[in-house]
Amino acid sequence: MDDRQFRQAMGKFATGVTVIATEVEGEIHGMTVNAFMSVSLDPKLVVISIGEKAKILNKIKESKIFTVNILAADQQEHSMIFAGQLKEHREVAFERLDGKPVIPGSVAQVACEVSAEHVEGDHTLFIGKVTDIHLLDVEPLIFYSGMYRSLEKLETVTN
Ligand code: FAD
Repeated sequence: MDDRQFRQAMGKFATGVTVIATEVEGEIHGMTVNAFMSVSLDPKLVVISIGEKAKILNKIKESKIFTVNILAADQQEHSMIFAGQLKEHREVAFERLDGKPVIPGSVAQVACEVSAEHVEGDHTLFIGKVTDIHLLDVEPLIFYSGMYRSLEKLETVTN
């Protein structure tokens, strides 16, 4: 099993796309992340996984806060901006939720305080205690096998 095969296999797990945002000394930094999941209902906890080379890693360690912005189907450009996939710098407007920076138009904005960090291999898992949530009734952006996609409803089979 080589790295390419591992990546290919993991890419077969269809996910949404999030932008993680944090703020240090008034400067907001964001990064595209699909390694996100819910961990616990009581208390309300989520987890994100951040690579050791990502600039946002030390910023989250320092600020001890982050937000998870689950992108809408019309926010593919946001995913590309925060994954460093566009050549030119784009200005992105942020708003606030519980005092933390969030992206307007996201399906869900989830504000978190870091409650634990675990280094596992070449990534750090940040456990976030959820302090506030804002939801919009819009369709999500999907990532599968290295491509952006949108959701399609299947017919419900009843018999
Ligand atoms: P940086 O260069 O610091 O930031 C990335 C980009 O965001 C830069 O172009 C920067 O200009 C822009 N940016 C940052 N803040 C702002 C701002 N305030 N306003 C405007 N632009 C800003 N990596 C992981 O570690 N974990 C994952 O789960 C993960 N999932 C991914 C899922 C997808 C669908 C994709 C496409 C990538 C994913 N990545 C993941 C890779 C990760 O997004 C990139 O490696 C990322 O560019 C690294 O971020 P950085 O902080 O090192 O880079």
